[in-house]
Amino acid sequence: MKTLFKILVLLLVLVAVAGATFLFFMKFESQPPVLELKELSPLAGRKLSFKVQVRDARAGVRKVRVVLAQKDRDQVLLEKEFPTTFLQGSRIKEKTWSLEVDPVQYGFREGEAKVIVEAWDASWREKLKGNFAQKVVSLQLDLTPPAITLLSGLTYIARGGSALVVYQIKEEVASQGVWLNNRFFKGRPLGEGVFAALVALSVQEKSIRKFAIRAEDKAGNALEIPVSYYLKRRSYPSYKMRISEGFLSRKMPEFLSRYPEAQKKNLLQTFLWVNETLRAQNNQEIARLTSEVSDLPFQVRGALRALPRSAKRSDFGEFRTYYYKGRKISQAWHLGLDLASVARSPVPAAAAGKVVFADYLGIYGYTVILDHGLGLYTLYAHLAGVEVSPGAEVEAGQIIGHTDTTGLAGGDHLHFSVLVQGVFVNPVEWLDPQWVKNRILAPLEPYL
Ligand SMILES: [Zn+2]
Repeated sequence: MKTLFKILVLLLVLVAVAGATFLFFMKFESQPPVLELKELSPLAGRKLSFKVQVRDARAGVRKVRVVLAQKDRDQVLLEKEFPTTFLQGSRIKEKTWSLEVDPVQYGFREGEAKVIVEAWDASWREKLKGNFAQKVVSLQLDLTPPAITLLSGLTYIARGGSALVVYQIKEEVASQGVWLNNRFFKGRPLGEGVFAALVALSVQEKSIRKFAIRAEDKAGNALEIPVSYYLKRRSYPSYKMRISEGFLSRKMPEFLSRYPEAQKKNLLQTFLWVNETLRAQNNQEIARLTSEVSDLPFQVRGALRALPRSAKRSDFGEFRTYYYKGRKISQAWHLGLDLASVARSPVPAAAAGKVVFADYLGIYGYTVILDHGLGLYTLYAHLAGVEVSPGAEVEAGQIIGHTDTTGLAGGDHLHFSVLVQGVFVNPVEWLDPQWVKNRILAPLEPYL
């Protein structure tokens, strides 16, 4: 009997000690929650966004509050309370919230503001309110978008054509450029807040849905202003190309020897792969090589000069339909000028620039691409070989190769293309001294 009593007392003592330990470590723990503010920029704009992380390993998080405050204004951005149980405290031991607010919507003004994060845990300390933690971070609110002024006046542009837009931005910006339909053309700083962007309308675009200068400041405030423009009508020819047995047996071996994928059940199928799949791959590679606005100063001083003493064989913007034995088999846009002179004619650089590509490139054969600055590039295709190296700087008129028939060329000629930030444009504009002077050089002159 006595022994049983002793065991009972011992058990009671054990339970009491366990309970006291539990109460001491769990219900009366004194560790406040740990707060972290992440991705909060010290300069915030109309899209103020950040992450709040609250951790409390023991009792767990009972309550969280996030406030945006200015001298005379307090706005609760987040307030959450979590259920607690006697044994577990709060089940929330760690949680992260992503917040995004527009301070203008809550009446905040430019200047200093504070983000205040407060959290309480599920401990029974502080008269059962729990351990408290607070974190205050100051930031500057910049709620005004950068002011943009269009300097270049009315912009003339045609389908397949190029244009120059000059503008001023009176604030340091994080990004700037010009939207033309669904393409964004980056501008190049000319100094004192003035920027110039070369833009292009591809030959496939018959109308303009959007033409606007966009600037975004470092606080993320963005503004777009429309560009006033005049869209000139310009039509492009359609052309029928007859693919002969002779052409296939003369030209396809070149592709079969270079591309294992070109091997098909007959030469016509090889041609279709070359004209469609390889052409698309090559054009994608060209767009990638020519999409950047480099640090190179603009190298154009007058009209571009293509192959001298040559005759035009094909126009830019031709829409070609290919026929084989009277049957329509394929289609493609011709995105350059075909110029023919005597065979193996020397090919001069159309303007000073830097070689960004000099190698074999599928349907284009041996190809050289030059960067002239401001996002303007020229391409020379079907060359006899490579006579310059990538990275080399060339002068206007310097010989960069010789004409030939490499790639998808029927006879000896130069295929000459002009690109603006990855878009093939009509070279005829750039070969016209009057156009280059009036549309490109004159608007740039005051700022160079
Ligand atoms: Zn061509």
